[in-house]
Amino acid sequence: RELVISFGEMLIDFVPTVAGVSLAEAPAFVKAPGGAPANVAIAVARLGGAAAFVGKLGDDEFGRMLAGILRDNGVDASAVVFDSGARTALAFVTLRADGEREFMFYRNPSADMLLTAAELNVELIKKAAVFHYGSISLIAEPCRTAHLRAMEIAKGAGALLSYDPNLREALWPSRDEARTKILSIWDQADIVKVSEVELEFLTGIDSVEDNVVMKLWRPTFKLLLVTLGDQGCKYYTKDFRGVVPSYKVQQVDTTGAGDAFVGALLRKIVHDPSSLQDQKKLVEAIKFANACGAITATKKGAIPSLPTEVEVLRLIEKA
Ligand code: ATP
Repeated sequence: RELVISFGEMLIDFVPTVAGVSLAEAPAFVKAPGGAPANVAIAVARLGGAAAFVGKLGDDEFGRMLAGILRDNGVDASAVVFDSGARTALAFVTLRADGEREFMFYRNPSADMLLTAAELNVELIKKAAVFHYGSISLIAEPCRTAHLRAMEIAKGAGALLSYDPNLREALWPSRDEARTKILSIWDQADIVKVSEVELEFLTGIDSVEDNVVMKLWRPTFKLLLVTLGDQGCKYYTKDFRGVVPSYKVQQVDTTGAGDAFVGALLRKIVHDPSSLQDQKKLVEAIKFANACGAITATKKGAIPSLPTEVEVLRLIEKA
């Protein structure tokens, strides 16, 4: 049983054809399929692992295109549901010259927000070794209830729960509501990964010192991770903790690096769950995940830059 199931949104990012412009200045946009949970599922599959995606798409050209991308990448899309009354979500995204990311979302509501608990493929969810999710699916009903129910089904069937909040402030009614709802499911997770930005958002403290990270620790956690971009990541378990540096690469676009990291780590954990108790094995798994994230940062876009296992091992051997 090595199946990783990823739950949540899959959408199309529209990104400018030229770098460093605002959304208003962009002369044209290209489609970049994404959505963090979908990226994670594809990351696992590209590494040779078993992955399924659970979520809802619009019954439109874009929704069918996205389902096709999952299948073409070897992800089980049998639990994807299509909504005939709502569109597939779109997001216009740019990285401006000043380094700020600008987002514009088309979700009013989009199909992903309309998944209901009754539409969950319970039999598939029960087969998960790891059930992974973010927080965007917690924002609106009925998807929020479906999300909570899916977590319950997976946990009840013995899956580990993996949580990457993937904060998108612009999607929440307020910062307070984002913080409260993100933390409302904190304690249920077994594995949690946050970025530096999310660590600061959730703790209110701009530091990655252990005493700050430990504010997010719960006694029931098996693993807490803080990703540090090109610096790699910090890890915490009940018995040991440390830092694993990443690999030196030519950074081009970090979109999807966090998702690649999560996918690679989950791939390793489902293959050998004892990695969570054995520091040496865990560090090896994190090195693999860092390398996977690093490679993803060397190419534009998320899905096209996710590496195969051979590519990841090549970077590790070269170092
Ligand atoms: P996201 O940006 O996708 O929301 P995130 O902030 O967790 O998520 P990063 O910290 O940028 O993502 O990247 C995740 C991991 O990928 C890092 O912990 C690191 O191991 C690797 N990585 C990312 N960028 C680089 C880089 N420029 N050089 C080396 N490794 C990198």
